[in-house]
Amino acid sequence: MNIGVLALQGAVAEHIRSIQLAGAEGVAVKKTEQLADIDGLIIPGGESTTIGKLMRKYGFIEAIRDYANAGKAVFGTCAGLIVLAERLEGGEEPHLGLMDMTVARNAFGRQRESFETDLDVKGIETPLRAVFIRAPLIKEVGQDVEVLSSYQGEIVTARQGNLLASSYHPELTDDYRLHELFIDMAWKAAQRKTK
Ligand code: GLN
Repeated sequence: MNIGVLALQGAVAEHIRSIQLAGAEGVAVKKTEQLADIDGLIIPGGESTTIGKLMRKYGFIEAIRDYANAGKAVFGTCAGLIVLAERLEGGEEPHLGLMDMTVARNAFGRQRESFETDLDVKGIETPLRAVFIRAPLIKEVGQDVEVLSSYQGEIVTARQGNLLASSYHPELTDDYRLHELFIDMAWKAAQRKTK
């Protein structure tokens, strides 16, 4: 399995490390043509406005929409989650608009800019170590979106078919089980394609 990490801005090397620990090949994706060679794509954390701008500039908006609509697996973490959302609070323009959810950016406020916690995540047996950095929250989801975990009553992990999103950074710890879960999604998506 080849899993790509969108390498325009943000935590790329860390995701590649987690992908390798989880047993797949990690590839930095800098050009849209590379999407043809990967079984799943991770959009990393960073700064969503910057990532969105660079995605527009290099043709990734259309390319990733086509990729996801073809049934390929896409995983957005932190800023990547913001980029996946159909709706952003505060009237900001969405970027890919692929996941039926409303997202609030920087939702934890200044007091709690960054913190770590153990999260119960559906599909992962024991709590997952999660690092939140100026993290967004999922305020509302559509009926096709499954909530995989909440933190203090707010949604922080969600899945919609072949799309996965986390408010936090799963790549900044040695706990790579969310990457494993995503690789499994990508593997299943690849099986469906070859049938
Ligand atoms: N606060 C950032 C944004 O709004 C996301 C932070 C992150 O990816 N760690 O884009």
